[in-house]
Amino acid sequence: VDKVEAVVYSSYGAPSQVLKWHSYGLPALTRDTVHVKFLASPINPADVNQIQGAYPIKPPFVALGNEDNFSTDGGDNDKVVKAAVGGNEGVAEVIAVGDAVSGLKKGDRVIMAKTGHGTWRTYAAGPPEDFQVVPNATSVSLIQQATISVNPCTAYRMLKDFIPPQQGKCDYVIQNGANSAVGQAVIQIAKAWGLKTINVVRNRYIIAIIAILRQELTALGATHVITDDQLGSFETKSLVKSWVGKNRLLLGLNCVGGKSATEMARYLSANGKLVTYGAMARAPLTLPASMLIFKNISFYGFWVSKWAETHSKEERSEMLADLVQLMAAKQLKEPRWTAVEWNEKAVKEAVENGIQGYGKGKQIVLF
Ligand code: NDP
Repeated sequence: VDKVEAVVYSSYGAPSQVLKWHSYGLPALTRDTVHVKFLASPINPADVNQIQGAYPIKPPFVALGNEDNFSTDGGDNDKVVKAAVGGNEGVAEVIAVGDAVSGLKKGDRVIMAKTGHGTWRTYAAGPPEDFQVVPNATSVSLIQQATISVNPCTAYRMLKDFIPPQQGKCDYVIQNGANSAVGQAVIQIAKAWGLKTINVVRNRYIIAIIAILRQELTALGATHVITDDQLGSFETKSLVKSWVGKNRLLLGLNCVGGKSATEMARYLSANGKLVTYGAMARAPLTLPASMLIFKNISFYGFWVSKWAETHSKEERSEMLADLVQLMAAKQLKEPRWTAVEWNEKAVKEAVENGIQGYGKGKQIVLF
């Protein structure tokens, strides 16, 4: 291999304007580096925000490969000097290993060690620290390998780290954006761990469509599915009360923000926790004082990138192994997905479409 093809950006803005198809020489293998070949990389909401310049992790614009090799095929003669490769998640195979490298071998399936590595490219070269092996990767599908590090890990950590498990009792979790890729993982991991879920989805005004959505989430293991429109009603309040009974509803997972999050937090038992991980509605979270004063609800944020940065590779590996095991046991399924072809037009269009939501599923570039 001597040439890398990549989708890069060297300024922030609308993906269709700033993304460029770029080819450059793959840096030669050294004693301390490895070469990897990308197999599949998703397009996540955060990738789009990152290209727009609206994400806290901004990969530096660097010279990619050999300076003499720069070319852009965008037809606008706009020579890329320094750029970042788009994408943050994906699975690659190790194809060459330097003599002094330990811990990685040819054929290993790896994910990126950190957010910001750039995964919309055919090959990459780098030190072994850039990558992390997915244990038993080939016991699960390529799509599962490519999408393991963001959504399933987020669901796993939020369910595991905020509420201490209660021996012999069944706890409830309430979540909005329940049909998002993270939400689907929450439903399935919760079920595998003996937790019950109350799942809030955006209403669809065609009854048949909401019925199908309800059916699909129930098939994944959702205990109850309700719509955001129903959240505030008196009937829903009594219904949820009857579902939860004497059990605890101590954890709320907020993908959406705005009114949906405030309404959802009202259902938490005293001393419950609301963990915000997304802001799909782009509306601020309003907190009534009564929730703080009388119910002692506490509010947290979770960011999987920060988690990976502040925990050891061993801890991450333990989580990956647990997730692979759940996947191999068919307790955690592939997210809904659509394939994106590896060519400039298809990738740019897919990124511009950005967040596809439940209907079409996660867009995944197949190399
Ligand atoms: P998906 O594309 O799978 O799902 C998007 C979800 O958002 C769908 O449920 C969709 O519902 C809902 N949605 C879209 N627009 C709105 C809106 N205006 N109001 C309410 N709901 C809306 O996304 P992911 O699962 O990949 O990500 C979901 C969120 O979680 C994103 O904000 C993402 O950035 C964040 N995230 C955060 C992480 C972290 O570490 N903090 C890690 C992973 C993801 P519908 O079907 O009704 O359109």
